[in-house]
Amino acid sequence: MKPLHLLPVGPVDERLLRHLKSAIPQCLRAPCAVLPAVLDPAPTFHGERQQYHSSEILHLMQGFVAADCGRLLGVTTIDLYIPILTFVFGEAQMGGPCAIVSAHRLRQEFYGLPADSELLSQRLLKEAIHELGHTLALTHCDDYRCVMAPSHAVEWIDLKESTLCPACQKRVANCFGS
Ligand SMILES: [Zn+2]
Ligand SMILES: [Zn+2]
Repeated sequence: MKPLHLLPVGPVDERLLRHLKSAIPQCLRAPCAVLPAVLDPAPTFHGERQQYHSSEILHLMQGFVAADCGRLLGVTTIDLYIPILTFVFGEAQMGGPCAIVSAHRLRQEFYGLPADSELLSQRLLKEAIHELGHTLALTHCDDYRCVMAPSHAVEWIDLKESTLCPACQKRVANCFGS
Protein backbone atom coordinates (compact mmCIF):
# COMPACT_ATOMS: atom_id res chain seq x y z
CA MET A 1 0.00 0.00 0.00
CA LYS A 2 1.28 3.49 -0.84
CA PRO A 3 2.20 5.65 2.18
CA LEU A 4 0.49 8.84 3.28
CA HIS A 5 2.81 11.84 3.19
CA LEU A 6 2.61 14.80 5.57
CA LEU A 7 3.75 18.16 4.18
CA PRO A 8 4.33 21.07 6.56
CA VAL A 9 2.77 24.24 5.11
CA GLY A 10 4.77 27.03 6.75
CA PRO A 11 6.45 26.36 10.12
CA VAL A 12 4.75 23.60 12.13
CA ASP A 13 5.56 22.37 15.64
CA GLU A 14 7.62 19.15 15.38
CA ARG A 15 5.57 17.60 18.19
CA LEU A 16 2.29 17.95 16.25
CA LEU A 17 3.83 16.32 13.18
CA ARG A 18 5.27 13.44 15.24
CA HIS A 19 1.88 12.79 16.83
CA LEU A 20 0.11 12.69 13.45
CA LYS A 21 2.82 10.47 11.98
CA SER A 22 2.41 7.87 14.72
CA ALA A 23 -1.37 8.13 15.19
CA ILE A 24 -2.65 8.29 11.59
CA PRO A 25 -1.53 4.72 10.72
CA GLN A 26 -3.51 3.45 13.72
CA CYS A 27 -6.71 4.98 12.30
CA LEU A 28 -6.16 4.45 8.56
CA ARG A 29 -4.27 1.34 7.68
CA ALA A 30 -1.47 3.05 5.75
CA PRO A 31 2.12 3.95 6.65
CA CYS A 32 2.82 7.65 7.18
CA ALA A 33 5.95 9.74 6.54
CA VAL A 34 6.76 13.44 7.01
CA LEU A 35 8.25 15.07 3.90
CA PRO A 36 11.49 17.04 4.41
CA ALA A 37 10.14 19.90 2.25
CA VAL A 38 8.05 22.82 3.51
CA LEU A 39 5.50 24.57 1.28
CA ASP A 40 5.45 28.37 1.56
CA PRO A 41 1.77 29.46 1.70
CA ALA A 42 2.57 33.18 1.12
CA PRO A 43 1.13 33.30 -2.47
CA THR A 44 -2.30 32.24 -1.13
CA PHE A 45 -2.57 35.03 1.47
CA HIS A 46 -5.62 37.31 1.23
CA GLY A 47 -4.73 40.74 2.59
CA GLU A 48 -8.24 41.92 3.46
CA ARG A 49 -9.24 38.68 5.15
CA GLN A 50 -5.80 38.12 6.74
CA GLN A 51 -6.28 34.44 5.91
CA TYR A 52 -4.95 31.89 3.43
CA HIS A 53 -7.06 30.36 0.63
CA SER A 54 -7.03 26.61 1.30
CA SER A 55 -8.10 25.63 -2.24
CA GLU A 56 -5.09 27.51 -3.65
CA ILE A 57 -2.80 25.72 -1.18
CA LEU A 58 -4.23 22.37 -2.34
CA HIS A 59 -3.38 23.45 -5.88
CA LEU A 60 0.24 24.26 -4.91
CA MET A 61 0.49 20.93 -3.10
CA GLN A 62 0.06 19.00 -6.36
CA GLY A 63 3.76 19.67 -7.04
CA PHE A 64 4.68 17.71 -3.89
CA VAL A 65 2.76 14.53 -4.76
CA ALA A 66 5.48 11.88 -5.25
CA ALA A 67 5.04 8.78 -7.40
CA ASP A 68 5.01 6.55 -4.29
CA CYS A 69 2.57 8.81 -2.43
CA GLY A 70 -0.88 7.44 -1.61
CA ARG A 71 -2.32 10.65 -0.18
CA LEU A 72 -0.68 14.00 0.66
CA LEU A 73 -1.82 15.84 3.79
CA GLY A 74 -0.72 19.43 4.31
CA VAL A 75 -0.37 20.43 7.97
CA THR A 76 -0.35 24.08 8.94
CA THR A 77 -0.93 26.58 11.74
CA ILE A 78 -2.16 29.43 9.51
CA ASP A 79 -5.83 30.47 9.34
CA LEU A 80 -7.55 28.94 6.29
CA TYR A 81 -10.62 30.05 4.35
CA ILE A 82 -12.61 29.35 1.24
CA PRO A 83 -14.52 32.30 -0.27
CA ILE A 84 -18.03 31.17 0.82
CA LEU A 85 -17.04 30.53 4.46
CA THR A 86 -15.58 32.60 7.32
CA PHE A 87 -12.95 29.91 7.90
CA VAL A 88 -12.27 26.21 7.43
CA PHE A 89 -10.46 23.75 9.74
CA GLY A 90 -9.30 21.99 6.58
CA GLU A 91 -10.16 21.10 3.01
CA ALA A 92 -9.78 18.00 0.87
CA GLN A 93 -9.89 16.99 -2.75
CA MET A 94 -12.73 14.46 -2.90
CA GLY A 95 -11.19 11.19 -3.99
CA GLY A 96 -7.64 12.57 -3.60
CA PRO A 97 -4.82 13.05 -3.69
CA CYS A 98 -4.45 16.17 -1.48
CA ALA A 99 -5.92 17.51 1.75
CA ILE A 100 -4.91 20.14 4.30
CA VAL A 101 -5.63 20.70 7.99
CA SER A 102 -4.93 23.75 10.15
CA ALA A 103 -4.27 23.83 13.88
CA HIS A 104 -5.02 27.58 13.98
CA ARG A 105 -8.62 27.42 15.28
CA LEU A 106 -8.10 24.12 17.12
CA ARG A 107 -6.00 25.85 19.81
CA GLN A 108 -7.74 26.68 23.08
CA GLU A 109 -5.86 30.01 23.06
CA PHE A 110 -7.84 31.04 19.95
CA TYR A 111 -10.97 31.04 22.17
CA GLY A 112 -9.28 32.87 25.04
CA LEU A 113 -8.70 29.67 27.04
CA PRO A 114 -5.47 28.27 28.53
CA ALA A 115 -3.32 26.23 26.13
CA ASP A 116 -3.92 22.46 26.11
CA SER A 117 -1.39 20.66 23.91
CA GLU A 118 -2.98 17.24 24.42
CA LEU A 119 -6.40 18.51 23.32
CA LEU A 120 -4.82 20.28 20.35
CA SER A 121 -3.12 17.05 19.21
CA GLN A 122 -6.39 15.14 19.49
CA ARG A 123 -8.35 17.74 17.55
CA LEU A 124 -5.72 17.95 14.82
CA LEU A 125 -5.66 14.15 14.49
CA LYS A 126 -9.45 14.02 14.14
CA GLU A 127 -9.45 16.73 11.48
CA ALA A 128 -6.54 15.03 9.68
CA ILE A 129 -8.39 11.69 9.56
CA HIS A 130 -11.58 13.53 8.52
CA GLU A 131 -9.93 15.28 5.55
CA LEU A 132 -8.01 12.13 4.57
CA GLY A 133 -11.38 10.34 4.67
CA HIS A 134 -12.64 12.79 2.03
CA THR A 135 -9.58 12.00 -0.14
CA LEU A 136 -10.70 8.37 0.13
CA ALA A 137 -14.07 9.51 -1.28
CA LEU A 138 -15.92 9.34 2.07
CA THR A 139 -18.74 11.86 2.46
CA HIS A 140 -20.08 13.22 5.77
CA CYS A 141 -21.52 10.72 8.24
CA ASP A 142 -24.69 11.03 10.33
CA ASP A 143 -23.10 9.28 13.32
CA TYR A 144 -21.91 12.20 15.52
CA ARG A 145 -19.18 10.01 17.05
CA CYS A 146 -17.73 9.09 13.65
CA VAL A 147 -14.66 11.05 12.54
CA MET A 148 -16.52 11.75 9.26
CA ALA A 149 -19.25 13.71 11.09
CA PRO A 150 -19.14 17.37 9.97
CA SER A 151 -17.67 19.89 12.47
CA HIS A 152 -18.26 23.62 12.25
CA ALA A 153 -16.98 24.33 15.77
CA VAL A 154 -14.36 22.74 18.03
CA GLU A 155 -17.08 21.50 20.42
CA TRP A 156 -18.29 19.20 17.64
CA ILE A 157 -14.77 17.94 17.04
CA ASP A 158 -14.43 17.12 20.75
CA LEU A 159 -17.64 15.05 20.59
CA LYS A 160 -16.37 12.71 17.91
CA GLU A 161 -13.83 9.90 17.98
CA SER A 162 -10.66 9.85 15.88
CA THR A 163 -11.90 6.68 14.20
CA LEU A 164 -14.30 5.78 11.40
CA CYS A 165 -17.63 4.20 12.33
CA PRO A 166 -18.11 0.61 11.05
CA ALA A 167 -20.08 1.81 8.01
CA CYS A 168 -17.38 4.32 6.94
CA GLN A 169 -14.67 1.76 7.76
CA LYS A 170 -16.31 -0.65 5.35
CA ARG A 171 -16.48 1.95 2.58
CA VAL A 172 -12.81 2.87 2.97
CA ALA A 173 -11.68 -0.79 3.12
CA ASN A 174 -12.60 -1.10 -0.54
CA CYS A 175 -10.41 1.90 -1.34
CA PHE A 176 -7.36 0.38 0.40
CA GLY A 177 -8.15 -3.03 -1.08
CA SER A 178 -8.23 -4.72 2.31
ZN1 LIG B 1 -15.82 17.25 5.86
ZN1 LIG C 1 -19.19 7.15 9.74
